[in-house]
Amino acid sequence: VFQLSVPLNFLGSVYRELRQSLLDMETLFNLQKVNVAIKEPLNAKSLQLTKGGEITFENVTFGYHADRPILKNLSLTIPAGKKIAVVGPSGCGKSTILRLLFRFYDVQEGRILIDGQDIRDVSLESLRKAIGVVPQDTPLFNDSIEHNIRYGDMSAPKERVLAAAQRAKIHDIIASLPEGYNTMVGERGMMISGGEKQRLAVSRLILKDPPLLFFDEATSALDTYTEQALMQNINSILKEKARTSVFVAHRLRTIYDSDKIIVLKNGHVAEEGTHRELIDTGGVYSELWSGRHHPSFMRDETDQDTAQETLFD
Ligand code: ATP
Repeated sequence: VFQLSVPLNFLGSVYRELRQSLLDMETLFNLQKVNVAIKEPLNAKSLQLTKGGEITFENVTFGYHADRPILKNLSLTIPAGKKIAVVGPSGCGKSTILRLLFRFYDVQEGRILIDGQDIRDVSLESLRKAIGVVPQDTPLFNDSIEHNIRYGDMSAPKERVLAAAQRAKIHDIIASLPEGYNTMVGERGMMISGGEKQRLAVSRLILKDPPLLFFDEATSALDTYTEQALMQNINSILKEKARTSVFVAHRLRTIYDSDKIIVLKNGHVAEEGTHRELIDTGGVYSELWSGRHHPSFMRDETDQDTAQETLFD
């Protein structure tokens, strides 16, 4: 949910300006959460992805309020070109990690590096250009479906828009609408479901094709079948292009194949490893996987599977 920390008329003008200058979605997303404390150095250099997008958190401490740290002396490495998952109980700070990477906020202690560069030292524009996010709740514009996907890349030819929607498993639905890609969405257009919204957000991300991809519960509203098909497509894109990706997910079946799974607990890394390693260790993750930890799964009505479902909360 957006926190409107700026006057609405300001947002209105920002919105108009964005529509005109065709900046990307995350920029708007960011502006809606304007945080004046975020500053970039004068003549900041552009982020250089010299190693392909390796992310390092070095002794990071952060809280939204200084007296209540969410991340405590957190250190972790996300290797370039790998798929990483961050799991942990609700409220442990998973989304916060993504927000920090995008510099919605700055850390209170420690530093975050991308390919060796402190993200506070590079230009915000270059940082955010390198990152694509499917946030928990994707804002849509009162505009056509095509336009909404195009916020990922305004200059993309139509074929690429269609290809992105196809890979995001939403093309068939769009194509079946009387007005197809011209269908209006948002308050003044068609109301779309949570799962459709998520797939539009994924289409946008695929079209943007950034070097670093973050998914925050990006498929949580989808049924098991569609989720699996979409994850397969996302995985193949990530592999093809050797992209660095971070998934925050409650449903462990979407992330068990990650190159590394990081389990967060009480603001620090409780354990990390591959699915196999974590199962063999027999710690928190393996308990969550087997379902023993949480007798009452949070399930949506479309879920038919049992154990490897939603295992937190
Ligand atoms: P979930 O799995 O429920 O999405 P999460 O692990 O992603 O949770 P975060 O969204 O990172 O958790 O939030 C971590 C903690 O920070 C929570 O206690 C949350 O209430 C708090 N928090 C998040 N955003 C803010 C904010 N803007 N201001 C103050 N506190 C916040």
